[in-house]
Amino acid sequence: MSTPRPKANSRTMLAADLPAELYEEAVSQADVAISITDLKANILYANQAFERATGYDASELRGKNQSMLSNHTTPRLVYETLWARLAMGKAWSGRLLNQRKDGSPYLADLTITPVHGPDGEVHHYLGMHRDVTDMHQLEQRSRNQKQLIESVVDMAPMAIALLDENGKVILDNQAYKKLVTDVGSREPADVLMEALETQGGGRGGDRPQFLRREGEVRIERPNRPEPRWFSVSTLPLDVAQESADAFFAAATRRCLLLVAVDITPLRMEQEKARTAALKALLAEEEHASALRESLSATLYRLE
Ligand code: FAD
Repeated sequence: MSTPRPKANSRTMLAADLPAELYEEAVSQADVAISITDLKANILYANQAFERATGYDASELRGKNQSMLSNHTTPRLVYETLWARLAMGKAWSGRLLNQRKDGSPYLADLTITPVHGPDGEVHHYLGMHRDVTDMHQLEQRSRNQKQLIESVVDMAPMAIALLDENGKVILDNQAYKKLVTDVGSREPADVLMEALETQGGGRGGDRPQFLRREGEVRIERPNRPEPRWFSVSTLPLDVAQESADAFFAAATRRCLLLVAVDITPLRMEQEKARTAALKALLAEEEHASALRESLSATLYRLE
């Protein structure tokens, strides 16, 4: 293979001072499955971690092709990409579905690096892989849970929005999106939070947007005579930072969960019932006053 040789053949001054056996011991005992193959992927060397990962011992592996590990479900295109990269003298990294000696499958996170000889040509390949089955299961589980939660939130009849520390909506559901047409050109979260603040129902503070609050608010609608009523609640949430520098520091960012339930129909029913009760009271009073008047007239006649 006529690919350019990596600079200085990767041998540093320090490495040159170390005895060759140390390299051998280090590779043999490394906790990552390591193999060295010829250019056709026939295994020339496999370390202890490789034996543990695959269930084969070194004598069973020597001379066999790496394809013996294939579970035969990895798409052909993956292998073609792998070999195309190697043919260019470049390293390849990816995931393959492997099979152990006992037939059980495992997901291998593999990196193959071409090894250049002193003549600059590639003579061997170095393979390093880890069993990432558990990690994959966890990733998949959290993806599934995320999808499930998103669907449930999206289907919920109440408007739900998550606000960042600047009050910007970073997540919302369908019911929240529908509010946009109702409250005009403004962000519904701003309108609801403002109403909650001015119409009461919660406790005040320096940064009311980061308090747990709840209350009923009345929202006037542009160009519509009848208002809408919402039962609004806010809940501060500490969301873990995802950046690398927060790995040990466990930094969090403060967000706010806003939930608004449309109680307009309930309010209208209550209004109707109140008006009916008031009418009944008036009618009763009218009836009582008419009775009073006829009684006084009768009394007058009797006198
Ligand atoms: P293959 O006959 O290998 O063919 C697959 C595709 O690769 C075809 O398009 C073919 O043309 C191309 N191809 C195959 N050999 C070469 C070559 N020498 N030069 C150029 N193109 C070629 N596979 C696994 O499934 N699991 C592993 O853990 C794994 N580890 C590997 C580690 C190293 C260091 C190397 C070099 C390869 C590794 N492979 C691994 C790849 C393996 O060698 C096979 O290519 C793969 O398993 C598919 O085998 P196959 O018999 O189905 O198809």
